[in-house]
Amino acid sequence: MAKCLQNLHTHSTYCDGKDTIEEMILAACEKGLRSIGFSSHAFWKGLPVPKQVIDNYKYEIAEFKKKFADKIEVFCGLECEMHGDMDLCGFDYLIGAVHYLPLGNEFVCFDWSAQDVQTIIQQYFGGDGMAYAKAYYQQLAQLPQHGSFDIIAHFDLITKHCEKVQFFDRSSKEYQWAAIEAAEQLAGKIPYFEVNTGAMARGYRTSPYPDMFLLKELKRLGFGAIISTDCHDSRFLDYGYQDAVEVLRECGFKEQFILTKDGFIPTEL
Ligand SMILES: [Zn+2]
Ligand SMILES: [Zn+2]
Repeated sequence: MAKCLQNLHTHSTYCDGKDTIEEMILAACEKGLRSIGFSSHAFWKGLPVPKQVIDNYKYEIAEFKKKFADKIEVFCGLECEMHGDMDLCGFDYLIGAVHYLPLGNEFVCFDWSAQDVQTIIQQYFGGDGMAYAKAYYQQLAQLPQHGSFDIIAHFDLITKHCEKVQFFDRSSKEYQWAAIEAAEQLAGKIPYFEVNTGAMARGYRTSPYPDMFLLKELKRLGFGAIISTDCHDSRFLDYGYQDAVEVLRECGFKEQFILTKDGFIPTEL
């Protein structure tokens, strides 16, 4: 069994996580991780998180970096929405994500439930699930316009609720082309993507994001892989790590990237 080295996609009580920063760090130490990074949501319920909250978050993580310096390396990151309008300086790394689609006059979150997805497809896409999927990938491809991101979060988040209800055909060429086109547009602009087991931990998916066809394309396009669990509960900090390693190997990856004080470095899988 491969041992989990690092998790850079974690949420605490600063957003929708269950545990405090300190509880997450203690759990990471217990599980033997060499480092942990926090990636609080910069945008929440359609609004930017207030500056004061982000400042407190940064301060608290800086304090715990010192407190735990001899036990584990702690990094301060952010999971950013493309329409967020905040100062993105002073973080160790930035994850770019799309959880909202600009529809009508508002940003609509498609991440919550299958019921919401159903409503969005009916209300905004005339019942056409494929048009909905394509709108997501068009948004994703625009990420670099909104910040200098290091990691693309859950590349095919749009598939989160698709295992129970088939909103669009994931095996169709039409769907896969939309995803591959986004990957081609992001290549050379955001260096890393994550293999994310978060939806497995929460019972939405039976395999990590992204789907295998997409992993192979990301490999072809030269993206580096980062394994994360998109953790909202310290019990799941290393959930599905072995699955992520196996799927990466199966798709031809020989290494994953780890964040260190000297930046991201490749490590053998
Ligand atoms: Zn996310
Ligand atoms: Zn997240």
